[in-house]
Amino acid sequence: MESAYVLANRELEEIRSKNRELQSIRHAEVLLKAPRITEVEGELMKQGSRLLGSVFNKAGDFDDIKSKIQSLQKQKAKLLSDIGFPEDYLDDIYSCRACRDTGFVEGRRCACLKTLISKHIGANANLTESMRGQTFESFDMSLFANQGEESAKTLKIMRIICDKALEFAESFDKTGDNFLIMGNAGTGKTFISSCIANRALERGKTVYYQTAFRLFEFFENAKFNKGDEDAAETVKYVYDVDLLIIDDLGTEFQTQFTSAALFDIINLRIISGKSTIISSNLGFEELSNLYSQRVVSRFMGDYKIFQTLGKDLRTIKRAATKNQ
Ligand SMILES: [Zn+2]
Repeated sequence: MESAYVLANRELEEIRSKNRELQSIRHAEVLLKAPRITEVEGELMKQGSRLLGSVFNKAGDFDDIKSKIQSLQKQKAKLLSDIGFPEDYLDDIYSCRACRDTGFVEGRRCACLKTLISKHIGANANLTESMRGQTFESFDMSLFANQGEESAKTLKIMRIICDKALEFAESFDKTGDNFLIMGNAGTGKTFISSCIANRALERGKTVYYQTAFRLFEFFENAKFNKGDEDAAETVKYVYDVDLLIIDDLGTEFQTQFTSAALFDIINLRIISGKSTIISSNLGFEELSNLYSQRVVSRFMGDYKIFQTLGKDLRTIKRAATKNQ
C-alpha cells in the first residue's frame, strides 16, 4: 500500500495541474477580448530577463528597466480592467499561498501538506475492506451458540458486550468512555471494534484503527527519525482522532520506549476527553506484568473492561463452511 505521504503528494500534483488548467482557460478568455495582451506579456518577459542580466552584469540600467516593467504592468492591468477583469486575473493561481502548492516552506512540510497526509492516514479509519463490512447489523450471534457446553454463557456475555459496544458507538464523543476488550484470539474482539468504528464513521466521527505492533513502530520511527514518511503525522493523528482503536496490545516489540508511549497515548487521550478502544489476547494479570502500574491504574480507573469468552470463531466458521 502506498504511504499517506505519497498519496498526499499526488493530490498536491493534481491541485497544481488543475490550477494551471484554470489559468490557461483564463488566458484564452482574455486573449479573445484583448489580443494585445500577448504583446504586453511578451515584452514583460523580455524586460524581466533583461533585469536579471542587469543585476548579474551590474550594467547600471537597472532603474531604467524597472520603470519599463512597471509601465508594462500598468498597461496589462488597464487592458484587463477595460474588459472587466481584476488586475491579478492572469497571475499564477495557488490553492495554498504559503507554499505555492509545493507542500514545503523553507524545507519544512507546509500545513496544507500535513493536512493532506492526515486525511490519507485517516481514510476509512484504516480499516481493511472486510472490516468495513463488519457492522452491528451484520453481527451473527448464532456463531456464539456453537460453543458446546459454554454456548449459553458465551452468548449471554457476547450480547452484553454487543449492547454496551453499540451504546458506546452512539455516545463516546459525549461520554469520553474507553473500552478494554480482552479474550482469546478469534473470539470477536476485532469484529466488535470494527462495528464500533463503522458506526462512528457513519456518525461523521474520525476513527483510526491500528495494531499495537504497527502503531508503536510509527512512534519509534517518528522519535528516532527513521525516514518513515508517515510517522510524524500518524503520531499526531493518534492524539487528535475522535476514536482510537489499538488492536492486539501485547504483540508489539516491548521496550521502555513503547511502554512510555502507551502511557502517553492513554493518558493524554483521557485528559483531552477522547475515547480509546484497546483489545488484547492477554489477561489482566499478564497486562499488569507487562505494563507499568500507571498504565494499569488508568485501565482500572478510566476503562470499561470486557472479557470475551469461547473458542476461536474463525475455526468454527471454517468448520461450518466445510460441513455445508
Ligand atoms: Zn501549503
